[in-house]
Amino acid sequence: MMDLHTHLDLYKNAMDILAKVNSINSFTLAVTTSPRAWVITNKVFSGYDNIKVALGLHPEIVVEKFNELDLLISLIPQSDFIGEIGIDGSAGYVKSLPQQEMIFDRTIKECQKAGGRIISIHSRGSVAKVLEILKKYPDSGIPILHWFTGSITDLQAAIDMQCRFSINPLMVYSKKGKDLISRIPKYLIFPESDGPFAILNGKPVMPWEAMDVCTSLSEIWVIPIDEVKSIMHKNLNALLNK
Ligand SMILES: [Zn+2]
Repeated sequence: MMDLHTHLDLYKNAMDILAKVNSINSFTLAVTTSPRAWVITNKVFSGYDNIKVALGLHPEIVVEKFNELDLLISLIPQSDFIGEIGIDGSAGYVKSLPQQEMIFDRTIKECQKAGGRIISIHSRGSVAKVLEILKKYPDSGIPILHWFTGSITDLQAAIDMQCRFSINPLMVYSKKGKDLISRIPKYLIFPESDGPFAILNGKPVMPWEAMDVCTSLSEIWVIPIDEVKSIMHKNLNALLNK
């Protein structure tokens, strides 16, 4: 089992599920929403070897956390994984777009300086801008576009740049999501939960439920589920061994 994008520190019962996540999932990428949260979470989660904590600054809260930008930049050399970062171009966050873009640009630039990072990226309503900045820093590492909701043209541009995609159980329930997924090469896909924000049947998706997407992938790709799972593990190994 694996989960490439979860807000593990934000579950109500985070401390209770930590050991379970660590034992069921052979790999979990716990993204954070601010660098201060990373410092704390990284300490608390240490000792759980199968859980990696990514350093982030969520685009929806850049106004409130703007004073943590320097801390974010200064911590990048210490963290192999970056996220959640990105740009949110939807109506509610238009006002902070200049700040969001500046922070994303500086972060990606710093990832390149640090020798490349695995980066979990939020790109709602902003795929073109996100890709434009990633293109400026070709050695910034491996971008994983999480919960992709862009157009088919956006998707093709991201595939051309070899972006990875982490997909969650909610995405596979929508027709648009399924259509997008069907166009992504198998070797670029990973499962994610995006819990506790992603809610299915009234309950947050749990990190050990991210792999439930394999059922839908097996239908989309018309291959047995075991084969889907082995592709996910192969993709993970390739990602971590880069
Ligand atoms: Zn998220």
